Amino acid sequence: MDQKTIPLRPCPVPISLYFHIPFCKSKCDYCDFFSLSEISESFMVRVLEKEVRSLDSFLSLLSPPSIDTLYIGGGTPNVVPPPILRSFLEQIFSRLPNIPTESTIEANPESVSKEFLQVIKAVPINRLSLGVQTFQNNFFSMVHRSSSPEINRKALTLIREHWDRRLSIDLLYGIPGSTVGWALEDLENAIRYHPHHISLYHLTPEENTKYGEQIRRGIMKPVSAFQEEKIRKTLLRRAREYRFYQYEISNLALPGEECRHNLRYWELRPYLGIGPSAVSTLPGLGNRILRITETTALGEYVEQQNEEIPKNWEEIPPKVFLKEVFLMGLRTVFGIQRDSFRRMFGVSIEEVIPGTVQKNSNLLKKDKIRFTLTERGRWWLNRVLIDIFDEIDQHPNPIRCGWPL
Ligand code: SF4
Repeated sequence: MDQKTIPLRPCPVPISLYFHIPFCKSKCDYCDFFSLSEISESFMVRVLEKEVRSLDSFLSLLSPPSIDTLYIGGGTPNVVPPPILRSFLEQIFSRLPNIPTESTIEANPESVSKEFLQVIKAVPINRLSLGVQTFQNNFFSMVHRSSSPEINRKALTLIREHWDRRLSIDLLYGIPGSTVGWALEDLENAIRYHPHHISLYHLTPEENTKYGEQIRRGIMKPVSAFQEEKIRKTLLRRAREYRFYQYEISNLALPGEECRHNLRYWELRPYLGIGPSAVSTLPGLGNRILRITETTALGEYVEQQNEEIPKNWEEIPPKVFLKEVFLMGLRTVFGIQRDSFRRMFGVSIEEVIPGTVQKNSNLLKKDKIRFTLTERGRWWLNRVLIDIFDEIDQHPNPIRCGWPL
């Protein structure tokens, strides 16, 4: 749907805020995020200025009581030269009604510098998420990622010398040719730098990526599903020895160090995404749930002088939203809060999906506060979701939704 005026309404509850910084040093073969390389500094400034204007417009429309979490992602936020990044971050924080509980910035090792760390220490950023991916040499040339094991180590050493706030490290597994030993070495190397949080992502051959194309054409051979599962289980077991627990399918944390921003996202709390390709889920007039998507046409994005709110939006029907609540909520060990669900949909989970609950009782935890899958249940998440979606589709009564809480 492409409509002129978005029927947004003031948001009565705190929101989360995401900024997409769509610049990278070069494009990795496996990446399907929206990002561009070789962008001039002056154009970066124009994009960031537009993002700040967009924030102003949204804040005046939404008037949220507070911003719970902030996430500056990308792309690669730290390819923005430090003085420009500093000005951008200062402008954002000066506009927020409060200092968010958690403010994260993503960074890539090849652009970590002392100046970058000084910039993020000068503002209330309290979490740094570093895209290490691996310490194995051949990966970087294989997928044209502009880093190396040496660059990763140097960046982590610099961070440990100049950054004493929270640190998260991204690792990739399932890289063609990888072994259990290789993956364990990556994990051990990462843990040596004392992160609070580790994201363990599977290297997926996404459509419309060079890597995906090479896998499809048989030029590269992915690791087998059996090998991949063996690697994943071994990594999780070893991480547990260092007190990291798996709180979400791809995320591990020391107790209390979970990513609050992503938890809010999985709980489908209202969030505002700003920047090219960013997505928002926000309350609309008449109890509607709106999903707004920003354009990826960068030229058009910066040119729109008087249209800071994007035009692309759609209304999410309550049944679709209900499915999303299960889809996202069951990813984490915290599951779905039963009382929130009841307040939102006016019924209990068992009233909406009685058949699924009965059929999958061996995969569900017996918990009166939360609706959660067991560890084995999360492994079978897709199967459980198919049952849930089928049952929601066949639900005889209209679903009503009182969101947000
Ligand atoms: S650095 Fe990250 S965002 Fe940029 S192209 Fe590579 S994977 Fe994508």
